[in-house]
Amino acid sequence: MSEISENLARVREGIETAALRCGRDLLKVRLVAVIKTVEAERVRQAISAGVKILGENYVQEAQKKIEILGHNVAWHFIGHLQTNKAKAAVHLFDLIHSVDSLNLAKELNKQAQQQGKVLPVLLQVNLSGETTKFGAREKEIFQVIEELSAMEGLLVKGLMTMPPYFEDPEASRPYYVELRKLGERLAQQKLSRISIEELSMGMSNDFEVAIEEGATLVRVGTAIFGARPPK
Ligand SMILES: *Cc1c(COP(=O)(O)O)cnc(C)c1O
Repeated sequence: MSEISENLARVREGIETAALRCGRDLLKVRLVAVIKTVEAERVRQAISAGVKILGENYVQEAQKKIEILGHNVAWHFIGHLQTNKAKAAVHLFDLIHSVDSLNLAKELNKQAQQQGKVLPVLLQVNLSGETTKFGAREKEIFQVIEELSAMEGLLVKGLMTMPPYFEDPEASRPYYVELRKLGERLAQQKLSRISIEELSMGMSNDFEVAIEEGATLVRVGTAIFGARPPK
């Protein structure tokens, strides 16, 4: 077995164990293999080992990799998206996890409508209030979601968050609980084009905790592909 398939086996086992531990349906927890800075050949190994969803942070990188690897897997965008890349992003991706401003949502809506598409998106929430992080603040969410509900080119499928980095995975838990509760409150609004089915939360160091708190999409890079080169 290659290193990547061994790593994947370990990650899958972690996902399974966490889902079992809290009695969740394993089918409701999907793995997004995060491929930022990972070259296409190594991504191909992950696809051979059964990865079905790839997550990329950079539009141009994704464009190159999609040309090489094709669209037999789903491509998710998970990074900060600049509005001038919205057109390409609508063209390339099956789900955007990181709608982090109303401005971006408007641009994606416009581009989706021009391309005759309805684009599935997640709303990124900044629960930690860190000014360095993108995402809507918790108190803005209800207003933002109402505006999103009116955008015919978008379909809001859920929420995404990224807590600050902690050594101890347990330190992430309050953020994941918070996102789940926020999702439950939003679901009660019963707005059109808004369904909160997906919670995108959990990374290499804390995906088990995220699954225990209701994650449906875990975004895992390092635990599959190894450490990335420093920026
Ligand atoms: C890089 C990245 C991940 C994966 O992080 P790892 O710690 O390598 O698993 C997940 N989500 C986002 C938004 C990222 O940028």
